[in-house]
Amino acid sequence: MNKIFTYFFCLLLLATNQLAAQTDSHCGTLLTDEQKVLLLDYAQNGRGFATKSAAQYYVPIYFHFVGDDAGKGFYNSHQLMLDLCELNRQYAAVGFYYYLAGIEYISNSTYFDHDYNGGYDMMRQKNKPNVANVYIVLNPAGNCGYFSPGRNGVAVGKNCMGTGATTLAHEMGHFFSLPHPFDNVTGVQEYVNGTNCAVAGDLFCDTRADFLNTRWNCPYTGNQLDPLGDKYDPDETLFMSYASDHCAHRFSDEQIDAMKYNINTSRINLKGPLQDTMPVQQTAKRIWPPDNAAQKPTESKFMWSSVPGADYYILQVSQISVFPSNLPVDIMTKDTSYIATGLTNGRTYRWRVRPVYAARTCTDFTTDLGVFVTSLTTGIDAAESTEMLVYPNPAAKNSLVTVAFQTEQTGEIKASISTVEGKTISSSLLQKQSDLQYSLSIDGLPAGIYFVELSNGSNTTRHKLMVE
Ligand SMILES: [Zn+2]
Repeated sequence: MNKIFTYFFCLLLLATNQLAAQTDSHCGTLLTDEQKVLLLDYAQNGRGFATKSAAQYYVPIYFHFVGDDAGKGFYNSHQLMLDLCELNRQYAAVGFYYYLAGIEYISNSTYFDHDYNGGYDMMRQKNKPNVANVYIVLNPAGNCGYFSPGRNGVAVGKNCMGTGATTLAHEMGHFFSLPHPFDNVTGVQEYVNGTNCAVAGDLFCDTRADFLNTRWNCPYTGNQLDPLGDKYDPDETLFMSYASDHCAHRFSDEQIDAMKYNINTSRINLKGPLQDTMPVQQTAKRIWPPDNAAQKPTESKFMWSSVPGADYYILQVSQISVFPSNLPVDIMTKDTSYIATGLTNGRTYRWRVRPVYAARTCTDFTTDLGVFVTSLTTGIDAAESTEMLVYPNPAAKNSLVTVAFQTEQTGEIKASISTVEGKTISSSLLQKQSDLQYSLSIDGLPAGIYFVELSNGSNTTRHKLMVE
């Protein structure tokens, strides 16, 4: 009995240790021959390059949101934009400014929770040219993240992203050729006294000798000795070390030198054009649904005003008053409208939209756009085109109908109402309510089906309207 108990206890221990090892693995980037060649080239030809290099480089970064086969589990898009903002703070001293070159959503469980083979296949299939490809997944081969020199892509676990995390900064360091401070590029261990720093360890002389290739918390309190018998004092402030996230906040001058050499040599295709990085606060305005309106849970429509210069919009829908990481709708899109198909019937939801600029991702949502409820029998619908909506439809007798535009209108808008037989009943000007919304009176119209023709002098559109 005791033997059996011991046996199971050992099995349990083994399983627990493996689990711990898996979640504790910081970085899966191995020092490959490709990386060694780059570093030796830098050591021979690149030292001091930063002094003759440009102060600022604009680097295109492409994010692949990876979810499971069902399209679930994508990393929160708003948080990713804040992470990109943070990455730019972390790289400010380097002189690299990352701007959003593009995004895509990939629904693939084999990529979402992958081993190295799955990750390499993902990068081979999905990498875009002339950008830094970054994949946000659930599990990047048991690590927080890794850079694959062979596949030329970075994978980061979504649990190792977020405010205060340094994994992305670390992996982008590998992407731009950096080794860990404990790596031995020439196979020779670096001495604490610095005498062989240029030809041993990571080949940098301003990163102290380091031997800690597992996650460690700062400050270092061990007593490990180097081959000469001197006590190690590894530098926890370096992003490239394995010190905990809260300890690391910088690259050394020589590491910066090597990254600048790299972007001017083997990564010269990534030198992007000047970006407009000035902060802006522009708000998308609600067009549809009207506040407190009912929407079909299987077909909830959202429409908002276009914002000048915005490259993307983030639409989020939440069942509670805050917007946590797992939302029923969390999508980044170039469009100004979206149809959600997976909401739950009989619930109240809030929704919000923020514009995203490729090189200014630090902005927050300014305001919620409103509340709606889901109902299988919706009471409100709209006659719509891609440019405007006329609602409610059907409309009640002797009421006001709203006409909502996606862009601000200049000049007067004429509305004429006619019967289905083509007989004009009335002609009037729309009354402006706000920048995007106008109203049209249907006083005196009997119940029936009508056509509303809207004209601003250059364009005319026709909408079917039911009065009941
Ligand atoms: Zn690493």
